[in-house]
Amino acid sequence: MMTNTREGKVVKVAGPVVTAEGMTGSRMYDVVRVSEHNLIGEIVELHGDLASIQVYEETEGVGPGEKVVDTNAPLSVELGPGLIESIYDGIQRPLDELYGTEGEFMSRGSAVPGLNREKKWHFKPTVENGAKVQTGDIIGEVEESTLVVHKIMVPPGLSGTIENINEGDYTVEQTVAMLAADDGNKTELKMMQKWPVRNARPIKDRLAPNKLLFTGQRVIDAFFPITKGGTACVPGPFGTGKTVVQHQLAKWVDADIVVYIGCGERGNEMTDVLTEFPELIDPHSGEPLMRRSVLIANTSNMPVAAREASVYTGITIAEYFRDMGYVVALMADSTSRWAEAMREISTRLEEMPAEEGYPAYLGARIAAFYERAGRVECAGSPERKGALSIIGAVSPPGGDLSDSVVQATLHVVKVFWSLKAELAYQRHFPAIDWLTSYSFYKQYLKESFEDAEEGMQFQALTTQAMSLLEQESELREIVRLVGAEALSPKDRLALEVARSIREDFLHQNAFHKVDTYTSIKKQLEMLMTVLHFQKCALEAIKSGVETDKIFKLAVREDIARAKYTPEEKIDEITKIRETIEQQMKELQASPVA
Ligand code: ADP
Repeated sequence: MMTNTREGKVVKVAGPVVTAEGMTGSRMYDVVRVSEHNLIGEIVELHGDLASIQVYEETEGVGPGEKVVDTNAPLSVELGPGLIESIYDGIQRPLDELYGTEGEFMSRGSAVPGLNREKKWHFKPTVENGAKVQTGDIIGEVEESTLVVHKIMVPPGLSGTIENINEGDYTVEQTVAMLAADDGNKTELKMMQKWPVRNARPIKDRLAPNKLLFTGQRVIDAFFPITKGGTACVPGPFGTGKTVVQHQLAKWVDADIVVYIGCGERGNEMTDVLTEFPELIDPHSGEPLMRRSVLIANTSNMPVAAREASVYTGITIAEYFRDMGYVVALMADSTSRWAEAMREISTRLEEMPAEEGYPAYLGARIAAFYERAGRVECAGSPERKGALSIIGAVSPPGGDLSDSVVQATLHVVKVFWSLKAELAYQRHFPAIDWLTSYSFYKQYLKESFEDAEEGMQFQALTTQAMSLLEQESELREIVRLVGAEALSPKDRLALEVARSIREDFLHQNAFHKVDTYTSIKKQLEMLMTVLHFQKCALEAIKSGVETDKIFKLAVREDIARAKYTPEEKIDEITKIRETIEQQMKELQASPVA
């Protein structure tokens, strides 16, 4: 019998890229093992019998003549119980095990599997023997962590009749049921399945991403919302609060599962993620956030090719949980490091560079990545909807937004949170610039309230607030040119209310126990109150009251403190509006000084 194992020989080594000859018959993206060390690599280019291979491990010491063995399989991830709470490297090797056995640096060619082979999970069938099943059908459940019920699904491409399905404790490799296909062929169903990372997992249908993914962050939810299945880009110049924003989102978004991909450049950037993220507490349950998270981390001492692969590893794991019917939020920090890895490999492949040395396919790769986001009708029964949102951080050199990675990302994402160094410097956090950020999902704001009328109201208020902020920037220009005296009382009021929107509404302290999260209902109340002040003040101005007196009203302190009102006392914010009316009336009644 002919075996399929192809063995080639190394002819050249250029950093992470190895060229091998004798590879006729190999396919693009096949995983290969290079040299005696069994280094893991992937074929990224084929010319005749020559293959270019990106190697996920340090290639030092590898030289011409050494063997290259094709595994005949594409780069895949293992999917099944055990993903949650894991911390992986870019090709799904558990970091704790690698670090645990190998110390600071992992040994090369380590074949530690993505899912633990010994651990037993309690499997509870959700279908009975004789059930007809197909791709994506849920056949059982496992309580994977205190926060996640893992649904065991029929792997893509399979269908038939379930036989011999039993409740019990199994490892991911043990058979939990037999699947008899119509032609009589039998397949053992296990809790683990594999999927090639560079391909999107199958779905039944795409749905409009029209449900907001609430973040509890006022500037985001009210002005630049993201949706379940939506995409967002957040550039993070150093010190602008990028990490705080990402952590706030990881903690507070109303997603079931969080996948965090860290691509660090400097070693310490990643150490932060590795030490800080696992410490985060899930505010909804009070348990560690890791109990519903998967972390993928690339430190600077890991080869660039692994970094290139990490976003695919992450998104495939995220898609798998989406397929269970969950809302998944994926964060990639930072995609610039991913693009740089692409650039380095492209250079080694001696490809023709395009702008800033990035390969010509940079834009296509970035687009293909974000296109894997979406709200979907999942494959299989029972019928269920899942969503996968992607929030990608970018770190352009010098914060320059004309950078290729930023531009390519902005072409595809629907939300842009523009972090501004100037705001961070003024300690206005989150430092999301209201004048340059945008969201194409704002139209869905009004549908996201249980009460349709409240939704319409919130939408109208945010539009009104935004136009005041825009007016503020124009008025400030006038003040700069001709001085504040030139402003009419109405304009002076506009400036003052814009300030209140910024300080009392947009500014949000991530470290304050109440302010850290604001429900959408409370956001509505707060915004209503700020703008009610404007309405009443305008009436007062019309009846001749001086603006200075209006600005000094005691109620303004109440407006400023509304953000610290606990959720269960929201009606106190409603009462502030009555106080505003009362104090304005008193002003109007008092004789003009
Ligand atoms: P970056 O990751 O962009 O370098 P960080 O996220 O570490 O910046 O933020 C820098 C500092 O800014 C934090 O240590 C914190 O003091 C402050 N900060 C950022 N965001 C907030 C926020 N939402 N509320 C309060 N302070 C914040």
